[in-house]
Order: sequence, then C-alpha cells, then structure tokens
Amino acid sequence: MTESFPSHAQIVVIGGGVIGTAIAFRLAELGLSDVAVLERGQLGCGTSWHAAGNIPLMEHLPEMVQLNRLAADLYESFEQQQSIGWKRCGRVMLARTESRMAEFRSLIDSARRAGVEACLMSPQEVRGRLPGFRTDDLAGALWSPADGRVNPTDLIGTYARKARDHGVSFIEGVKVNNVIVSEDRVTAVETDLGVLNCESVVNCAGLWARELGLRNRIDIPLYAVEHFYALTEPVDGITSDMPTFRDPDALIYGREEVGGLLIGCFDLNAKPLSPEALPGDFSFSLLNEDWDQFGPYMERGIHLVPALADKGIRTLVNGPESFTPDGLPILDQAPSVNGYFVLAGLNSSGILRSAGLSLAVAEWIVNGDPGIDVSRFSLSRFRPEHNDEVWLRDQIRQAPSGHFSTQDV
Ligand SMILES: Cc1cc2nc3c(=O)[nH]c(=O)nc-3n(C[C@H](O)[C@H](O)[C@H](O)COP(=O)(O)OP(=O)(O)OC[C@H]3O[C@@H](n4cnc5c(N)ncnc54)[C@H](O)[C@@H]3O)c2cc1C
Repeated sequence: MTESFPSHAQIVVIGGGVIGTAIAFRLAELGLSDVAVLERGQLGCGTSWHAAGNIPLMEHLPEMVQLNRLAADLYESFEQQQSIGWKRCGRVMLARTESRMAEFRSLIDSARRAGVEACLMSPQEVRGRLPGFRTDDLAGALWSPADGRVNPTDLIGTYARKARDHGVSFIEGVKVNNVIVSEDRVTAVETDLGVLNCESVVNCAGLWARELGLRNRIDIPLYAVEHFYALTEPVDGITSDMPTFRDPDALIYGREEVGGLLIGCFDLNAKPLSPEALPGDFSFSLLNEDWDQFGPYMERGIHLVPALADKGIRTLVNGPESFTPDGLPILDQAPSVNGYFVLAGLNSSGILRSAGLSLAVAEWIVNGDPGIDVSRFSLSRFRPEHNDEVWLRDQIRQAPSGHFSTQDV
C-alpha cells in the first residue's frame, strides 16, 4: 500500500484513521486529488479499528441529526457497491425516568424537523424488539428505525479505495514530526522520510492531535481516556438483525456481535490516558483489561439482560479514545496559521461523524467555506487554560458520561 515519498502535495492529511481517510475521500469527490495522507502506522491502526461501529441518529439539534442521516445514507450507498457491514437495524433507547422520557419527546421533535422518523415505545413493545431484555423497571423507550451499524475497518478501506481511485496518495509508516510554517502560512511538513511541501494540512491525528498542535502553539484541547466494551459468549434469542440499544440512565449501550452481546459503557469517572503512556509504535493495539473500572457497568448489563449472568466474556476491549471538555468535536482552521485545519476530538462518535464533518472540512479547503455552520466546533470556544494538561486530565474524567446526560443522548 505504501507509495514512493513525494516532494509536494497540495494538501497533506496527517493521520489515516476514519477521519483522515474520510477527508481524503471528500476532497477527491470535490475534484481535489493532489492530496497525500500520511499515516505513522497503517490505515485505521489507532482508535478506529476497534470502534463498536454504531451509527445513532438522534440528537438535540436538527442540523446534527441531518449530519448523522448523511452518514447513514452514505454507508448505505457504499454497502450497495461492496459490503462494509452496514445494517440499518434501528435502535431502542431505554428510559428509566420520566425526565428521560421528556427528553426523548424532544429528540423525536428534533429528528422530525430533520426529516427523520422516530417514536416512543412502551416497555411491552421493547420486549418485542429486544427479546430477553428486562423491561419491568422501564418508563418507556424511543424507537429510531433509521439507525444502523457498520464495520469501521471496512468503512476506512472504502473511503481510502475511493480516494485512491481519484489519485490520492496514501503513505503508511511515515510520521509527521512538524508542520513547517512561514509567515503564518503552512508551507510543508517534516517527516521521518523527509520534507513534503504543501499548501494546507489537516491535523486528524486522533488522540495525538493535541501534541502535534502544540508544536505550532495551536491549542487543541482533547485528551484520551480508556474506553471499554465487553463481548460475551452467544446468548439464546440474540440475532444478527436485532436493533442496537442504549440505556443512558445506566450509562451502557450495546448490540449483537457473533450471536452474543457487545456491552459498552460511558463511565462516570473515566480513566485519563496520556499519549506518552502509549508506545511509539502503538498500532492495532489495546490497553489492559480493567474489571475494577468496567465491572459495575457489566453488572448493569446483566441486570438488563439476565441471561448474561451465565455467559462468559470473550474479550474486554479497552481502547483509547479522545474526548473534549464540552463533548463537541473540534473542526476549525487555526486562527494563527493559514492552511492549518483540524478535525479531531470525536468523543466516541468518529465513525458516525466521519461522513458529515469530513465534507465540511473538504468544502472549506476547496470552496473556502465549510457549507454548514461549524462555529460550535471552533477552536476559539476554548481559552488557553483549557489546554493545560492538569486541567484537561481532570475535566476529561466526566466527559464520557456527559454523552448520556439528559441534555445530550
Ligand atoms: C471502545 C470504543 C468504542 C467506540 N465505538 C464507537 C461507535 O460505536 N461509533 C462511533 O461513531 N465511534 C465509536 N468510537 C469512537 C471512534 O473509534 C473514534 O472517534 C474514531 O476512530 C476517531 O478516529 P480518528 O481518525 O480521529 O482517530 P484514529 O483512528 O486514532 O486515527 C488517527 C491516526 O493518526 C495517526 N497519527 C497520529 N500521529 C501521527 C503523526 N504524527 N504522523 C502520522 N500519523 C499520525 C495514528 O497512527 C492514527 O492512525 C469508539 C471508540 C472506542 C475506543
């Protein structure tokens, strides 16, 4: 897959995860193919390869629902050409309180304004969609039929293949050490394999994006935490076409995986992870199991699906994922450096967000305008102290569970 090292590219994309490959695909789609994606390991080797791949549509802002819908539609169109594991299986969101039900009504309203159908369900109806799930302590649920799931590795492969077909270069095994700036403009990147002259860069280096930004005094306040899901042995009644589910009051989510369940959590007191704690060649790697951290959430999974009590755990996946202090992604051009774009800090939604936010970055580069209002994702919403490592490490502990607060499901 590695190609000879070029001396010039109009655009350099730093990082070949789901975000970098999606941006390359979008740039090529818009007719810009003088693009080099530089990846220090192999495509997808950072965080993207082990994502659960859930594609949920419901959000409070109709424009975010529209972006999510764009992802579902794009993956469906990819699936028609070559399998990427896309299934529009729908999703059941469970409510344990009346305030959660009130929130679901507001989500349904936002979804409808974005042209996406969803409806409330009774606990009895939940039993029809999720056989074997305990429903006697539920207030109700939300049914979102347009949600789906996808295989992240196949998605990355498809983004890359389509970009490559239009002439984009993907160079693996090369690390970007510095972005070279002259008179407040990006002019080149300095890599292990030499200098590559360019007009713009996109920093989509995942959990490493903050460190890279600091080298040009650009604050990109994101920080990784350990992020978990367990894969159980097969469970009777669990089928591959079952909907995905979220139990936001219990801070857990899940779906079918090889006849068993994938049970993941957005923990209350997440474990921050410094990039320096990872080896330089961290590639297709996972972190150590930590049952003290994940155990309470597995118990909630067993409460929800009592049959899990007798089932073994095949694997406890612990992967690094970067979060931002306010739970929103970072998409911007650095105010201090022309041609330095950032798309990072995906808050466990990078597989979902890759389709829509990559288009905004590509439009910005090609047409000078992202095409949608990206002000809520700007770098300027943060102050310099928000990039202080001690402050970030402390704040980021609460970021995952903020995902499931009653304001942001
Ligand atoms: C357990 C878990 C479950 C998840 N489930 C979901 C889900 O269901 N749905 C969803 O939407 N999201 C999910 N996510 C989140 C999703 O995986 C991430 O948001 C997404 O993968 C981030 O993509 P990325 O391209 O920004 O980062 P990465 O995939 O980490 O890509 C960044 C790349 O940059 C490379 N790189 C770094 N520094 C340099 C450098 N200096 N030079 C060259 N290359 C460099 C790295 O090697 C890496 O490959 C999950 C995450 C985890 C951990």
